[in-house]
Amino acid sequence: MRLYCATTNPGKLREFRIALDARFEVDTLPGLAEIPPCEETGVTFEENAVEKALYYSKHCGEYLFVDDSGLEVDALGGAPGVYSARFAGPDATDEANNQLVLDRMRGVRDRPARFVCVVALAREGELIHTFRGEVEGRLAEEPRGANGFGYDPLFFYPPFGCTFGEALLERKMGVSHRAAALGVMQEWLAAGGAGGW
Ligand code: IMP
Repeated sequence: MRLYCATTNPGKLREFRIALDARFEVDTLPGLAEIPPCEETGVTFEENAVEKALYYSKHCGEYLFVDDSGLEVDALGGAPGVYSARFAGPDATDEANNQLVLDRMRGVRDRPARFVCVVALAREGELIHTFRGEVEGRLAEEPRGANGFGYDPLFFYPPFGCTFGEALLERKMGVSHRAAALGVMQEWLAAGGAGGW
């Protein structure tokens, strides 16, 4: 089954392809670069995922999914949350976002954090379903590892004894929020969701 996705983030696209098995072929929505980016006005991952899926699927005759994801740090009241990509400003780099989280967490000993991912599946402007995945960890004291993207170097995952930035991508994808959400979508589709395929 072919699924289109609407992401310009190469880290996410790589992970989509690893998370979905051979029954699925994932392609970026043709012409995505020419479509004005969807505004993200929601205050939850669900709201933003649905908003983006409805918007981009109007430009696509096939099934299209988007993911809205981010890092929640308990001691920061759930921030950066839906603002993860733009925590340090509209065009912030991963390094700037990571530094701001570390600055806000300086001296804080209680460091639980989680990654959350909501995938929304739509077709021609109609929402079909949403799927959620989470993974629990803890905010590291400093960035570690060059693998992955975004906040991976700050996300210490106790069962691995290292950050996602230090783990091999395939290992991260065995436990990640994105793999979990896509796994649920995959099984839902395979079980005949969306009318079968
Ligand atoms: P979105 O494109 O609005 O969903 O923003 C997602 C942002 O959350 C990314 O730019 C990253 O900063 C962060 N993020 C989401 N998933 C991950 C992950 O798997 N690893 C590291 N950072 C992530």
